[in-house]
Amino acid sequence: MCYLRCSSYSYGKVCKAVSGYYGCDKCNQRGSWDGRITYPETNNLAMRTDQSFRECWQPEHHQEEEISPFSVLPIDMIKSFPIDYMHQSCLGVMKKLLLLWTRGRTDFRISSGDVTRVSGRLETLKKSIPDCFARKPRSLQEIDRWKATEFRQFAIYTGKIVLKGILQEQLYEHFLSKKKNFSPPNLERHHRQIDFLRTVNHPKIRYLCLRSGGSLGDGIRRMLKKIGDNSLWEYYSYKGRKGKLKFQQLLINDVIIRACSKAYPNQKSQSVEDMIAVTLKHAPDREKTVNQVRSQREEQPSE
Ligand SMILES: [Zn+2]
Repeated sequence: MCYLRCSSYSYGKVCKAVSGYYGCDKCNQRGSWDGRITYPETNNLAMRTDQSFRECWQPEHHQEEEISPFSVLPIDMIKSFPIDYMHQSCLGVMKKLLLLWTRGRTDFRISSGDVTRVSGRLETLKKSIPDCFARKPRSLQEIDRWKATEFRQFAIYTGKIVLKGILQEQLYEHFLSKKKNFSPPNLERHHRQIDFLRTVNHPKIRYLCLRSGGSLGDGIRRMLKKIGDNSLWEYYSYKGRKGKLKFQQLLINDVIIRACSKAYPNQKSQSVEDMIAVTLKHAPDREKTVNQVRSQREEQPSE
């Protein structure tokens, strides 16, 4: 699906582009005009579903008298199409933040001297950027000509270094907390999990049983850790509540229940499910602790 980015994205789905009033892929709110189309509502949204898309519940979202060539496939027409990373994260969030910090309201803006300092740091980093990157960092003076890949590099790699000590503490912390959302590693983890689950066979269950030990809770934590880390699990809840992804319908759920029935023969499968639910619920807290330890470690001066 990777080539279904940018404008070809809406071509592929034969629906309105994100610049249209009914262009949001995920919900059916009507956009409003504020110099550009925005979708300001974040609460109580009616989300699009495979059924609502296929049956054209909102005709304004679709191109007239045409159907998507993908609709013949047995796929979910909403969930199978990823959010456009280039426009939303790189040219969207990261660019917005940088413009806010360099040209925005005075309470968020850094001084022009500091803009020059950040630019200088970016220039200095040039020689340390390996060839696997499409571009070397450029100064902020050229930000209007930055490509998406440069915003991505800033978001994931260089921003953290060049902004340190310059951006207000609170804004810097906010940037760091959002930084991981830019990272493709989250997707890699998903793929690793999918690979693991592609074949559920006896050795895999035995493998998970070997991860068990101690109490049921310890066993489940260890099994989940073997497949993904807390930054993955914080996106899931057992029944998919509070807008999270549904763990219950993952194949790994059955695998864990089966592994537990071998490792903990006295536990009912209901208790296993309850324990998975609790473990997922606390994943965000564990992730926070890991990040705190990490940042404390980074703050310690290196000799
Ligand atoms: Zn929406």
